[in-house]
Amino acid sequence: MVDLDLADIRERLLKLRSDLEAVAATNDESSRIVELDQTRVGRLSRMDALQAQAMAKESGRRSEILLQRIAGALRRVESGDYGRCRSCDDPIPRKRLEFDPTALFCIECAERAEST
Ligand SMILES: [Zn+2]
Repeated sequence: MVDLDLADIRERLLKLRSDLEAVAATNDESSRIVELDQTRVGRLSRMDALQAQAMAKESGRRSEILLQRIAGALRRVESGDYGRCRSCDDPIPRKRLEFDPTALFCIECAERAEST
């Protein structure tokens, strides 16, 4: 058994999720504003607005992925699999989990995945 404070990790994951959801709500807001203002703003600022919209879309996509990872980590907390590498089943170092509570792999497996 990995020596982890699961209640604390669960707290952190839930906090992370509500932060992300708050950001996602703001992003929705700004993409709506772009649509409303399209007829009124000039060509240049419309470009800016579109760029901002693309950026909001991109960060929305990224937070979507992160939300999935958080959901997965929460499931693993519930099932008792949390803190074990999904590839080799070794315990993931506590420091790594403190840095990224959604980490799924130990350092070796993560590095191997990145180099391939
Ligand atoms: Zn591993």
